[in-house]
Amino acid sequence: MRKLPGTGRWLIAFAVAFAAGGLFIQAESNGDSAAAPPAVVLTPPPVASAGTTDPSAAAAEPPSLPAAEGPATKPATKPSTKPATKPATSKPATSKPATSKPTEPSKKPVDPKGTARVAQAASAWAMNNLPSKTVERSKNGTAVITNPSSLYVLVNKERNLPSSYVPKDLTIPDVPFSFSGDSPKKQMRKEAAAALEKLFDGAWKAGIELKAVSGYRSYATQKAIFDRNAKAKGAEEANRTSAHPGQSEHQTGLAMDVSSASVGYALEESFGGTKEGRWLAKHAADYGFIIRYPQGEERITGYTYEPWHVRYIGKEAAAEVARSKLTLEAFFDTLEASATKA
Ligand SMILES: [Zn+2]
Repeated sequence: MRKLPGTGRWLIAFAVAFAAGGLFIQAESNGDSAAAPPAVVLTPPPVASAGTTDPSAAAAEPPSLPAAEGPATKPATKPSTKPATKPATSKPATSKPATSKPTEPSKKPVDPKGTARVAQAASAWAMNNLPSKTVERSKNGTAVITNPSSLYVLVNKERNLPSSYVPKDLTIPDVPFSFSGDSPKKQMRKEAAAALEKLFDGAWKAGIELKAVSGYRSYATQKAIFDRNAKAKGAEEANRTSAHPGQSEHQTGLAMDVSSASVGYALEESFGGTKEGRWLAKHAADYGFIIRYPQGEERITGYTYEPWHVRYIGKEAAAEVARSKLTLEAFFDTLEASATKA
């Protein structure tokens, strides 16, 4: 068999992985159908956040298992983009130093556009949820998301959640709401709800008082909202601010709209200029959230500025996305580009 450059490295990386008790595959339990097997095996386990116990995610696991059997062939091609940075530097020294080739990694990073920077930062979470690999066309041509229960799902006007998708772990976070009484929109997925509680705690300690306004929204509710808006202002205008059913992040249970008394708990742009809005923008990522629809990015996200809409994506991912200063769409796009180039 021909010796591909780096094959030795990968074998070593695998040896280390297996020595570590095969935790790599298990740790990636957010795993969605589209997972590219090599990426799963070769990257370090994500933050504990990935541990969603979602039956539909479990069903999608099998694709990652074969990778454990045939590492020598597959991984040599695909992961050469990114994992080279991590495993190659630290791990070989421990197990088989004799065969390591320390000269190779230095050839890699020359990338004028800075895509490598994003690619290097990207962990399994991103590679396993690349938009191009997590979508399929329905019979009527609609692009339907195949990883709806992933914490890293990308939902937008080009990517529809299945109309039947309802998160299985919805719960009500213990935070103050802008309204009283029971409502489905108080809910978020379990992990997101816990993170929101921490976010609100952190805000409180900083002298910032936030209230939650709107979280989970079912497909049917979103449909009712959109229809009402479309009736009032026309479908096109409605589409700029409210989502078509299936295209709302609120259906994932990972989004929450938050606001403050300073704007009467309204969901309006001026919230972004308040001390509460500024605190949120600055600290959301510390708790695993991103401001999903930043100012000036309507062309990319499809939505006007929404300083009140936070999306849970886990601490690791939030930190990477925030560091990139890109929208979630652009972040994934950059990875797609570097993945195909490689
Ligand atoms: Zn929202």
